[in-house]
Amino acid sequence: MAARKKSTKVAAKVKQPSFIFVVGGVMSGVGKGVASSSIAQILQARGLKVTALKIDPYINVDAGTMNPTEHGEVFVLKDGLETDQDMGNYERFLNTDLPSDNYMTTGSVYLSVIRKERNLEYDGKNVQVVPDIPLEVIRRIKRAAKLADADVVLTEIGGTIGEYENILFLEAVRMLQSEMPERVAVVMVSYLPVPGSIGEMKTKPTQHAARTLGSAGVTADIIIARSPIGVDSKRKEKIAKFCNVHKENVISAPDVDSIYDIPLNFEKDHLSDRLCAMLNLPCNQRPDLTAWKRFVRSSKQVKKPVKIAVVGKYFNSGEFVLSDVYISILEAIKYSSYALGVKPEITYLSAQDFEDGAELKRLRQFDGILVPGGFGKTGIAGKLRVIEYARKNKIPYFGICYGMQLAVLEYAKNVLELSDASTEEIDPTAAQLVIGVMPEQRAKIAKKDMGGTMRLGQCPARLQKGTIARHAYKADEVLERHRHRYEVNPEFIESLTAAGMVFSGVSPDGRLMEVMELPSQTHPFFVGTQFHPELQARPLAPHPLFTAFIKAAKQRGTK
Ligand code: GLN
Repeated sequence: MAARKKSTKVAAKVKQPSFIFVVGGVMSGVGKGVASSSIAQILQARGLKVTALKIDPYINVDAGTMNPTEHGEVFVLKDGLETDQDMGNYERFLNTDLPSDNYMTTGSVYLSVIRKERNLEYDGKNVQVVPDIPLEVIRRIKRAAKLADADVVLTEIGGTIGEYENILFLEAVRMLQSEMPERVAVVMVSYLPVPGSIGEMKTKPTQHAARTLGSAGVTADIIIARSPIGVDSKRKEKIAKFCNVHKENVISAPDVDSIYDIPLNFEKDHLSDRLCAMLNLPCNQRPDLTAWKRFVRSSKQVKKPVKIAVVGKYFNSGEFVLSDVYISILEAIKYSSYALGVKPEITYLSAQDFEDGAELKRLRQFDGILVPGGFGKTGIAGKLRVIEYARKNKIPYFGICYGMQLAVLEYAKNVLELSDASTEEIDPTAAQLVIGVMPEQRAKIAKKDMGGTMRLGQCPARLQKGTIARHAYKADEVLERHRHRYEVNPEFIESLTAAGMVFSGVSPDGRLMEVMELPSQTHPFFVGTQFHPELQARPLAPHPLFTAFIKAAKQRGTK
């Protein structure tokens, strides 16, 4: 009887995920990250379980040690890994948290191969760049697939085809493609310039990129043709002919006003159909993008402006302004604004410009002021003046991480009249270190053990009843993501509180001040968070604290 039962038992089907790789042709900066996020999203909209990975080809083990003007925003995952801003795009488009398994750099891959070699895990073998580095890459991609129980794993390879840096990652793609050709698809995001002098769209750079990809043993199955305007049928034919892809697999991707149109544009060229057919994916439903379309519509209907100033220090790079450095903050402001029916007008102001106080009056025109996170001395004097102005003139103020620490410092200096107050980060010899180094960070700083050692990732905070924070979140405890080494010095909490500052969010052990605010009776909105709420704001789930801030700004705008 038992034997018979056994023979009729159907073995549990092991999921066989498919792998999509996104590579860049021609040049960088054409929206490969957003294209990757959009592909992942349209497949998710077809009921598939999708996860997304990013590979960055630099030696840094993570993005945490890089200056934002070099690299853009550092996006912190829930479990604390400091990554590239594309991970933020994936989380926002997929409306999901991603684990650190979904991010790797050349440095992190080498580090684990070398560690394994030191642990004798290669059994005395000669460990080689090829195949051992690509094999480690493949192992990590498969691990991420398993962890997410994914039907489809999308992996974006940073950089552009033809660079030395990403050749080992392309080799991983080649190896996986030859192992399971029916389960691997390669998407090349290319660029088709329309030179003003000729007025015609040129396909030659894309042809060269496809050839260079071919020389790495990898063929593109889909070409996303980025260009200022849509790609016509004639040019699609040309690309198809010279790049060895089917004409229907050339997807037109013209410039758009909003990145959130991109998934919808891809669907106009039936991209998810093409991928589902190519990889034989189990997607039996039409893409359900209803909520997304509603969000996109709401973003276009808003008319009444809400004017927000973001006062930072990483904006200027030569003659260019880098708004990417605060990308999650900008997006978070947008989501809450759309939800409240207002059109965000965001102005980037350099903190350095406010140092002598002459420019402060410019701030009066804004409905809200936000000081984002930051490190070091540059711009501090200007930020303190801006915060003082916002506090005294009752302009809604939102301070994030450094923006909260500096709001506390400003209060200590100007309300408690502690004239020698400072933060240990910039003046460890000051008499009143209102912001001090966290005890567990001191030894790390002394040893210069700086990579991946800040207080990172999601931690809980308890919210105090009757406060702005508690009212916004409508929860007693929240989980938010952190990235810092300094904290409000516990020695000053009593005097700050006595002078009217409210610490409305604290760590469960009561030690760390996570949210600061001034009572709503004295200021319309003066809130700071030690954590980074922007990292958890999503198009389909605006962040409650950003919404509270924009609401206050909107109210000021109507006065
Ligand atoms: N520099 C501050 C610290 O390390 C703030 C960090 C931040 O704004 N992310 O605590």
